[in-house]
Amino acid sequence: MATLVHSIPSISFLSSLTLQPLKIKTHKKSLSTSRSEPIKTLTCTTSKPNNKSPTMDGRKPTSKKTRKSSYGTSRRSVLKKTFIQEQVTFTSQLSSDPHVGIIGGGMAGLLCALSLEKRGVKSTVFDTGIHGLGGRMGTRVIDPQPLIFDHAAQFFTVSDPRFSELVDDWLEKGLVRQWQGIIGELEVGGQFLPFPSSTPRYISVNGMRSLADSILSQTCMVNVVRPCWISKLEPFNGMWHLSENGKPCGQFDIIVIAHNGKCANRLLASSGLPLIARQMKTLGLSSIWALLAAFEDPLPIPTGATPFEGAFVKGVDSLSWMGNNSAKLLGSKTNSPHCWTFFSTAAYGKRNKVPQENIPTATAEKVKTGMLEGVEAALGLPKDSLQQPFYSRVQLWGAALPTNTPGIPCIFDPHGRAGICGDWLLGSNLESAALSGMALANHIADYLRSGGARPEEFALGLNKEFQTLEGHDIGQFSGLESSTGASPIQAYQLST
Ligand SMILES: Cc1cc2nc3c(=O)[nH]c(=O)nc-3n(C[C@H](O)[C@H](O)[C@H](O)COP(=O)(O)OP(=O)(O)OC[C@H]3O[C@@H](n4cnc5c(N)ncnc54)[C@H](O)[C@@H]3O)c2cc1C
Repeated sequence: MATLVHSIPSISFLSSLTLQPLKIKTHKKSLSTSRSEPIKTLTCTTSKPNNKSPTMDGRKPTSKKTRKSSYGTSRRSVLKKTFIQEQVTFTSQLSSDPHVGIIGGGMAGLLCALSLEKRGVKSTVFDTGIHGLGGRMGTRVIDPQPLIFDHAAQFFTVSDPRFSELVDDWLEKGLVRQWQGIIGELEVGGQFLPFPSSTPRYISVNGMRSLADSILSQTCMVNVVRPCWISKLEPFNGMWHLSENGKPCGQFDIIVIAHNGKCANRLLASSGLPLIARQMKTLGLSSIWALLAAFEDPLPIPTGATPFEGAFVKGVDSLSWMGNNSAKLLGSKTNSPHCWTFFSTAAYGKRNKVPQENIPTATAEKVKTGMLEGVEAALGLPKDSLQQPFYSRVQLWGAALPTNTPGIPCIFDPHGRAGICGDWLLGSNLESAALSGMALANHIADYLRSGGARPEEFALGLNKEFQTLEGHDIGQFSGLESSTGASPIQAYQLST
């Protein structure tokens, strides 16, 4: 059974979603860019792509301040568009057999799809992943050895009863198991302090990505389109039309944005969802370098230190985490090479940031050297004494982890029939992503059941202020408190 960490206060946010709706504030002047002020203009016009008919339903707009928009054209900067775009208002009747379009197939998007299905609502998930679904639940397998690395999420803890129920189901089905390997804090110089084993830690049995595939295999009303990069959202004739570089990808009654960062900001900038766009733009994200490295021999653990499989590193600028993925996934007695995933600190990631799709060779080399030097420093080894990995690869997570949160499980704009889910709404871990996806699905299902007659009752999180997120550089782990103040409790207490 998945064990809950009881340091987290019990949360009732999922069930309280419809009880505490937020109001959309409408004023007469133009939109403000200030976070402290409410959005000031909401001209409730709608547009079709050819600019001729201004409403979703072919009727005239109710506002006099009609400005015809051509959603998706690049006539202004992304920033300007975010704040000048008009609110789309759908007034058409909701379909009796609605179809939800989910953009993003990470933990949040997948759990949203799964939970919608449980409520009888079908969906299509679009994801950019070339190798598979999962987003930041990525696993890289290098043949022919094979070498195996979880190259973002390493493990997760459980604090919420709803997530616990889900994890129990995954345990029963053999999709996840407890990670019994020793983990703790490694101080520069090689001093290792193990975490107490009382807090269970979970991993996906064949690497994190396999969990994404397994979640999907439980569904029958979920369609997946991958790899697909949704580049445009257009409201037209009472539906959202999605497309990838001009190629139509279908029309949907409701859309879910289940990703974040620059890509989401670009997508939302001219979508007709200014409130949602503003919340997304307020999100801050860290950058983290990952170094995947395979060694012939075990790494030299300092004499007297407990042989560990994972460590949060302290006092080393280029390193915040090191995890032995082959020991974690294949067992420590395996004869396979020693596959380690190393993560930089967020500060190092920020200082050495480059475009993640196009990492200059010199930067990759510099980062690899810097991080391996960090491993030496962390383990207290003499300089240049560490064996060279026979395989290595660096990757930049340019939008790695949220640095702030509105502390609400999801955001929903009932006028625009669009919602957001993702880890950042609650915290910075898989549990937050899962809870957010589930919450949005339930909210959407409730909204659909209401028939859409009282949209304002379903507005959620559109004006919620953000708070800074505390935690490890690679996220929050309830029950694994660190000296640097990993405090998931703080984030969860923010929830409504
Ligand atoms: C380096 C690192 C280490 C981490 N370690 C841990 C850990 O050990 N434990 C833990 O619990 N959490 C960890 N996390 C955090 C965890 O990975 C995330 O909280 C979680 O995976 C977020 O899930 P999500 O669904 O919100 O977003 P994502 O996983 O980012 O999913 C979004 C998906 O949307 C897709 N997408 C984006 N734009 C588009 C588009 N236009 N069209 C279609 N698809 C699109 C993306 O490709 C992606 O697949 C770590 C994160 C990082 C970066």
